[in-house]
This record gives sequence, C-alpha cells and structure tokens, in this order.
Amino acid sequence: MSSKQKVGVVIAAAGSGERMGEVDKMFALLGGKPVLVRVVDVFQSCDLIDQVVVVVSKQSLEKCRQLGTEQAWSKVADICPGGERRQDSVAAGLNRIRDCHWVVIHDGARPLVTEDLIRRGLVEAEETGAAVAAVPVTDTIKVAGDDRLVQHTPLRDNLWAVQTPQVFRFDMITEAYRRVKAEVTDDASLVEQSGYKVKLYMGSYDNIKVTTPDDLALAEVLWQKHGK
Ligand code: C5P
Repeated sequence: MSSKQKVGVVIAAAGSGERMGEVDKMFALLGGKPVLVRVVDVFQSCDLIDQVVVVVSKQSLEKCRQLGTEQAWSKVADICPGGERRQDSVAAGLNRIRDCHWVVIHDGARPLVTEDLIRRGLVEAEETGAAVAAVPVTDTIKVAGDDRLVQHTPLRDNLWAVQTPQVFRFDMITEAYRRVKAEVTDDASLVEQSGYKVKLYMGSYDNIKVTTPDDLALAEVLWQKHGK
C-alpha cells in the first residue's frame, strides 16, 4: 500500500444489544472504560489510519457524541446513526467516508482488535483488494434443516470463522454495497457476490465479539491477559 493512499475506518456499533439486557453493550465497561472507547482508541492510535466514522444506534447518538468530545478523538470525522440491519449501518458509515482509497470495517463489539490485526489486514488486502480476518474453526460444523436433521458435515479443514477487521478497496466495497441487495452478515459476502476475490488472513481467537454478559466477562480476562 502506497503511503499516500488514505485509509478510512467504519466502526459498526449500532446493534440493539438485546442480548445484553437493557445496557447498550457499547457502553459496558472493559478495563474501566466503555467498550466503544476501547475500540476507537485502537484505530485512533494506529498510524496507518487517517479517518474514522463511528456508527451507533439513534438512541446512543448523543451519548456517543459526548464521549467523542471527552476523548478528543482527532481522527473521528463523523459519528452517525445506523440502520435496521448491520449492513444498513455499514452503508451509512461508508457514505460518510471521504477521499479514502482503503476502508477497514470493524465491529464495535470487538474491543480486542489490535494494531497488528489492522496492519496485517491492510497488507493482505493489497493482493485482491479485499482481506478478512478469520480463524480456523475448532468445532465440527454440521448443516441441519429446520427439523434439526443433519444434512451434511463439511470437512473442517476448509472452514474458517470470520471476524472483523475486514479491509477493502473503497471503490470495491462501495460498488458491492450499491449492487448487491441480499441480506448478509458480513461485508465480504457482498464483495464475493459481486464477483471479487476475498482473501482470508489469520485473525485471533482472542478477537471475540462481545454479545452477551458472559462475553464481557471473558473480554475482561483477555484484556488483562494482553496486559492492558
Ligand atoms: O448483530 P451482530 O453480531 O451482527 O453485530 C456485529 C456488529 O454490528 C456489532 O458491533 C453491532 O453493534 C453492529 N451492528 C450495527 N447495526 C445493526 C446491527 C449490528 O452496527 N443494525
């Protein structure tokens, strides 16, 4: 990646947080600070990143803008409201990115992202224009019908659990978002469906998504493990 090519980030943090009870999981504390602050801090202090857009739910917009003022995030260009589905929130964030050649999309619920994961994603994306952090699955995965009868068991060797960061050439991801309207659970799916090649790179088993209160407890342990 040329050093002149700007890198933007969309942090998708507009989930409803239903599985965390009443609390918006973005504001739950990790190591004494809100999860969202932990996430933004990693991108703010990464020298490869030029611009950050944070997407939050409408209800959390004011609270997040307040946080932004307190934290003095110089790279945060915008804090905007998300949409119904994750892909609507990411689309809203992509609309606010300005003059970037690359974009890193990251779940606000993955506070254990590291500068190394971001850096390696940007390097890997150079080959095809799209690179996604993923880890080999350690469980055997079965495909079953609604009746829970097993239909088949794919070979584990080729199965990966996909995470974020997901890194894309800006023109590629915006075209994919424009063209493909199918419902998806990650951004790479849209790029794949547009006919582009997506490269997986080794993520981290510690890069968990904080969805339930148990995940938050685990994240706290991992936070300590990483000596943060
Ligand atoms: O719900 P899911 O596990 O797919 O959430 C992954 C990430 O996407 C979370 O950080 C969540 O806040 C975000 N999200 C979003 N807008 C939605 C739904 C999820 O930004 N409508």
